[in-house]
Amino acid sequence: MIYFDNNATTCLSEKVKECIRDNFDYYFNPSSTYQAGQAVKKKIEKAREQVGRLINAPSKNILFTSCATESNNAVLRDIVYKQKGKHIIVSSVEHSAILETVNYYADKECCKVTILPVDSRGRISEEDLKCAITKDTSLISIMLVNNETGNVYPIKRFVEIAKSINPNILFHTDATQAIGKLPVDVNSLGVDFLTLSGHKFHAPKGIGALYVKELQGFSPVLFGGHQESGYRAGTENLLGILAMGVAAEETLETLNDVIPKIRLLRDQFESALLSYKGFNFSIVGDRENRVCNTSCLIIEGFSGKDICFSVEQNLYNEPVCIGSGSACNSIDFSLSHVMKAMHVNQIPIRISFSRYNTQEDVKLFIKILIQTLMKIKKENK
Ligand code: PLP
Repeated sequence: MIYFDNNATTCLSEKVKECIRDNFDYYFNPSSTYQAGQAVKKKIEKAREQVGRLINAPSKNILFTSCATESNNAVLRDIVYKQKGKHIIVSSVEHSAILETVNYYADKECCKVTILPVDSRGRISEEDLKCAITKDTSLISIMLVNNETGNVYPIKRFVEIAKSINPNILFHTDATQAIGKLPVDVNSLGVDFLTLSGHKFHAPKGIGALYVKELQGFSPVLFGGHQESGYRAGTENLLGILAMGVAAEETLETLNDVIPKIRLLRDQFESALLSYKGFNFSIVGDRENRVCNTSCLIIEGFSGKDICFSVEQNLYNEPVCIGSGSACNSIDFSLSHVMKAMHVNQIPIRISFSRYNTQEDVKLFIKILIQTLMKIKKENK
């Protein structure tokens, strides 16, 4: 199989699988007083340290959640609970876990929202950010890396701008797509909240985390028992937490080798296509400020939707998994809100690599893609 949809989700690493297998029998309740339960508790705290190290945060500031969506929701809910009616700034290319949530709260008049525009390359202007900040602004939430284009946003700079205008403004970044693709350091970014999700870096689905700089007074994500220091009730997802800890450690350890390896694959892939004479390829996004693994491509005259449907019926009988710049599910193939915000009017294809991809995958996929385009062209004649 050619799997080039790593921004959607990733495979489990061998170490992660091993960790899950090794812990099948640790079913004890970590909140219990007996030794077996306490041993499990210790394992959870080790995983918290591993995740903390990945983003250079103290482990006590890491809360385990079920996914990035939950982490994003938790931050917005906290602000809305505490500062009803205040002003929140987000960008127009945020994941729907941010946009749907702020729009819901704005509709219910729980907050005012400014949605920052982007230019045709998906960039956010510093000037727009400065102008959007008012004396009522309580939170700015801008992603570190965009899931469709791979654009990296200058969060450190945005935090400096925001806090120089009003030091009380809190800053959240959704770093879901940054982990494993660039070093992430909460201190150097200067953020107050940061979201991540296990299944984007070779841990299983159903486990995420939220960094909260100042936990005192943070609104509980779930009410109930005293798990996660009372900030998220519910018996812990032990296997998920331990797996994410291992994935975090592995990601951090391999990052320096993995980034150039993936970048090389992506760049070889793009230069082969950009120099191909038969079809007109162009890159969507901020070419100079993208993560190493993402290639969002428009092929003149071809919809990403048609390509996604046709690419699997290839002469090599090879299953091919790629993404597209369409709305977030397999039923809705209209242009995504990210593409609309960038005024891109054609559905692109999104190829996203991981450390498990090889040059052979890339070479074969290029042949399959060209063949697919020829087939679509013939059918449309
Ligand atoms: N934020 C970003 C930037 C994403 O790319 C995604 C998933 O694609 C999410 C949030 C939601 O992640 P999860 O599936 O962990 O809720």
